[in-house]
Amino acid sequence: LARVFSGIQPTGVPQLGNYLGSLKNWVTMQNSGQYGELFYSIVDLHALTVPRDPRVLRKETMEMAAAIIACGVDPQRSVLFRQSAVPAHSQLHWALGCITPTGWLNRMTQWKSKLQSQSELQSQGGLLTGLFTYPILMSADVLLYRATHIPVGEDQVQHLEFARDLATHFNKTYAHLFPLPQVILTRSKRIMSLKDSSRKMSKSDPNDLSRINLNDSDESIRLKIRRAPTDSIPGITFDPESRPGVSNLLSIYAALKDMPDPGEAAQAMASMNNKQMKDAVASAVVDALAPIRDRMRRLLDDPSHLEQTLRDNEARARDVAEQSWREIAQCVGLPHY
Ligand code: ATP
Ligand code: MG
Repeated sequence: LARVFSGIQPTGVPQLGNYLGSLKNWVTMQNSGQYGELFYSIVDLHALTVPRDPRVLRKETMEMAAAIIACGVDPQRSVLFRQSAVPAHSQLHWALGCITPTGWLNRMTQWKSKLQSQSELQSQGGLLTGLFTYPILMSADVLLYRATHIPVGEDQVQHLEFARDLATHFNKTYAHLFPLPQVILTRSKRIMSLKDSSRKMSKSDPNDLSRINLNDSDESIRLKIRRAPTDSIPGITFDPESRPGVSNLLSIYAALKDMPDPGEAAQAMASMNNKQMKDAVASAVVDALAPIRDRMRRLLDDPSHLEQTLRDNEARARDVAEQSWREIAQCVGLPHY
């Protein structure tokens, strides 16, 4: 039976790339009725790899819960839970780490890029171990639920190949427990930063102008898009190689208008100048995000209800995860209670 798992880090309010690359698929998959159970996690253990004020983490975790529900994830139909509420994630992380060669972790592009920028990290005494073993915890998240379909953005594809390799390795070492998880991408699988078209948009980018947050005001959305980089080539065409800025805006527009191909958006705007094109993109973003922002605000107005919703869902997640962990523990030779 098909089972869906995905996660998002509570490292700020989700940005447009999270929505178009991942959260939108969470909702589509939920509403399609084609999958058995759907598990969506606010991965607060992963967020600990970026040390922050504990109060900020707690606040951003609740904002993330509100944002996910505001996007259309229904906690009656999907299991929406905080990762740390299910101890089996940490238990499986350890068991998997014990069969993971460090060479596999050394190959991860995200880790390698951190190595390159490590001079920035001298203040905390060098790179942190949690960041290095992050892909093991992510594998544990997915494998614990025996998930088959994983809706994520393109930046997570390598981590999921890692999870598949690790699952295969476990299955051979012990017993065939884990199905190999399959990545589900959206058409807009990589939305780029509005400041630097060579980097992906990220919610933890220090520059707020680089992204659109799901709770940005209409004015702020329009301002950020107006300032986004374009080029001086006349007319509007879709060409990510030579026109990354314009093409990124076209990808956003096409995704929001459910157009299969950003080239189609370019054709519709062919005779516009950059300013007119940006106005059209900004209006599409404002129309899509205004209702999400309003729902998010209403959910945050009632924090105890939101907390209760999470707790109810976490009990369901724990049931499944504990059962799964008992089988894994049995397999590797640990006592299972
Ligand atoms: P952080 O900077 O804290 O890592 P993030 O914006 O990268 O934040 P994550 O929580 O790491 O967000 O990822 C959540 C989901 O959003 C993942 O499925 C990831 O692949 C997807 N995603 C993140 N950024 C983009 C993007 N720019 N375009 C498309 N999908 C994205
Ligand atoms: Mg990320």
